[in-house]
Parts: sequence; C-alpha cells; structure tokens
Amino acid sequence: MRGVTILGATGSVGRHTLDVLSRHRNQFQVIALTARVDVEGLFRQCLEHRPRYAVMVEAAPAQQLRERISRQGLDIQVLSGVQALEDVAKLAENDYIMAAIVGAAGLLPTLAAAHTGKRVLLANKEALVMAGQLFMNTIREQGTELIPIDSEHNAIFQCLPSRGRHDAWPAGVCRILLTASGGPFRGWPKEKLREVTPAQACAHPRWSMGRKISVDSATLMNKGLEVIEARWLFNAAPECIEVVVHPQSIVHSLVEYTDGSVLAQLSNPDMRTPIACGLGWPERLEAGVHALDLCALGHLDFEPPDRDTFPCLDLAIQAARVGGSAPVTLNAANEVAVQAFLAERLPFTAIAEVVRHTLEQCPSSTPDSIEAVLECDRRARVIAAAATADAVERMA
Ligand code: NAD
Ligand code: MG
Repeated sequence: MRGVTILGATGSVGRHTLDVLSRHRNQFQVIALTARVDVEGLFRQCLEHRPRYAVMVEAAPAQQLRERISRQGLDIQVLSGVQALEDVAKLAENDYIMAAIVGAAGLLPTLAAAHTGKRVLLANKEALVMAGQLFMNTIREQGTELIPIDSEHNAIFQCLPSRGRHDAWPAGVCRILLTASGGPFRGWPKEKLREVTPAQACAHPRWSMGRKISVDSATLMNKGLEVIEARWLFNAAPECIEVVVHPQSIVHSLVEYTDGSVLAQLSNPDMRTPIACGLGWPERLEAGVHALDLCALGHLDFEPPDRDTFPCLDLAIQAARVGGSAPVTLNAANEVAVQAFLAERLPFTAIAEVVRHTLEQCPSSTPDSIEAVLECDRRARVIAAAATADAVERMA
C-alpha cells in the first residue's frame, strides 16, 4: 500500500487524483486531504476516501468540518492553518504527495514536499515559476522523486530518455515543443477581447480546470508559466523551448532529438492520464480515460501562437530569460490581475498591462532564499494592486 496526500484535494486536479485512486484502492491509501474553505467538498471526500487527516486552511470552516466528521463518527483528525499544509506534506506515512494547490499559496507546502525524499507529483506550477532553482536544488539534495503532472510536462517527461530526466539536459535532445490549445479566444481579433467576461474566459474548449488556470490559458500566460516550468524541470534554456498551438489538445508536447527524431505523447485531453502516470510510474495504471480514436479525429492541426493578440506569452518568456526575481514578479502580478478580472473589476486585456507595468516598476534582484522570494512576491503584489486600481480608474 502506498500512502498518498493531496494538497488541494477539492480542486480540479485534486478531484481527478481521487478519481484515479478510487480505481486502485488495493494499492493506495489516502493519508491527508487539504482544502482552503470548501467544507462540503472536503467532507464528501472524507466520507468516501477516509483519510487520517483533513486540513482546512481557515479556522471557521475547519471547525464546521470537525463537527460534521465527529457527528458521522469518522476517525479523521481535522487540522487548520497554513502550517498544517506543510505538516501533512511531511507525514511519515506519505509515499506520494500530490502538490495541487493553485498559485503562490502552494509554494511553502510544495517545497515541504520537496524536502521529504518521497515522490512528489507536481501540478502547482507557480511554485516552480517562483522558486525554480531552490526547488530543484532541494529535490536533488533530498533525493526526492519528481514527476510533473502538468499535461505538457508529463508528456515531455515520458518522451525524454530516463537518463538525465531532471539532472542535465540529456545529450542528443535539441528542442522541446510545448503545445498550447490556444484557449477559448484563439483567432479572435484584439478589439473583441476587451469585452470578454470571466464566464467566457473560463469556458475552455478542451479542458475543465480551476478558474485561475482557465484565465491563464485564455491569456496564454499559462503557456508562458509552462515555459518557465519546463526550463527548471528539464534544465532547458528558454531558447530551446518552442510553443506551438495545437487546438485539439491531443499531442501534449514533443521532444526533438539531434538525429531529427521527434517523440510525442498523445492522449485524449483528460488530466487522469498524467495523474495516473505519476501514481503508477514506471508501471501504468488504468485511469478511466477514453481510448484515442485517431480516425474519428481525422486531423491534428498546428500553428504559431498569436503573440501580438496575447502579449502575456512573451512577457513570461522574457521574464524566463531575465531570470532572478522577474518570474516571481510576473507570477505575483498575474495572480493579482487575474483575481481582479475574475471579480469583474479589470478588463481581460488589462491583465497583460498590469503584468507589464509591474515588471517595469519592480527592482530586479536575485532572490537566493525562500524568504527573499516571498519578499519579492509581496513587493510585486503591492505594485500590481496599484496598477490594477489605476487601470480600473482609467476604464471607468
Ligand atoms: P482549483 O482552483 O480547481 O483548485 C485549487 C485547490 O487549491 C483547491 O483544493 C483549493 O481549496 C486549494 N487552495 C486554493 N487556495 C488556497 C490557499 N490559499 N491555501 C491552501 N489551499 C488553497 O485549481 P486546479 O485547476 O486544480 O489547479 C491546481 C494547480 O494545478 C494549479 O497550479 C494549476 O496551474 C495546476 N494545473 C491544473 C490543471 C487542471 O487541469 N486543472 C492542469 C495542469 C496544471
Ligand atoms: Mg498545462
């Protein structure tokens, strides 16, 4: 039996992970599940999966959950507070930790998981964007096994030779081709984007995901964050990573070798495939995913990204090249702007403006500790909040 803890269990990745686990109850035992405030969601997961621990970040929802669990007579310890996220990531009973909290909030718990020397299934890309070097150093020093869950990075992981998957750019590999669906506004003219609503931005044509990553997919910031993620995961120079739009989301990414061979991983767009890969590796687990029917698909299309209409992609690639604090600033500004867009305060097209302005205003540095990363993040959020307020005022 392998013990599995899921950080961010009530989210899209967390729920898909529990779906895969429920198909293999004889192999996995759920140790801890965490959520921010969704009492009902976590309670139902506790009923079905009987973890030993449940964490709600906020105290009042934690108390509600505790009462419901006790009324039900379940033997589950309910913890609360941000420290509890790190504590359950480090439990001795864990063999695998799924890092699926969204955004910078996932950084410290994901880093705690990296310290364990166990297997980390990494969905929380923002942790790598913010602290890639520190995170990868920790993984190497602790001998932690890291399996990327982001579908593109999981595809690349599967296409790379086993030697040098994380430690070095493997000899013979010359390029990573990162595929992007293009999001719900692919092909739209720039002018039309000003009016789009959060509901439109979250209606992704291929994937059903949390709201923040859905907006990131619509702006193409998600692909930019993924370039930075790939840069750290595979020790790849940003110049060796190319973004290709592939609207069907069947080819999840490709690796090109110096002899001209290109290896790709294909599957229907369903997060249970990369999740099952991470849970089973190097074995394969049944994941409940429909078989791929290539003849029914008929064709697979590829095109370059529209960099002019979706400037977030180049802002992120530029931040990847600059390095140091730039990706931290980019990520923080994006989180602030996306939140304002989802709250219907900021227009969609102003997300890129807020990110650009924040990158211009934030002094650059080389954060060499997690405290320094968090300080950069805080500083960028203050500047991004002011830029957001200015943009809102200008548009009023
Ligand atoms: P989501 O919004 O659906 O779920 C987020 C989870 O994190 C929830 O369980 C929520 O309770 C928890 N959470 C949110 N804020 C928190 C906080 N402040 N403290 C503690 N917990 C908090 O998000 P998602 O779509 O599942 O994405 C999770 C991560 O996986 C993101 O980093 C995303 O980029 C990445 N990812 C997601 C998908 C996908 O298909 N959804 C694909 C690839 C990568
Ligand atoms: Mg992805």
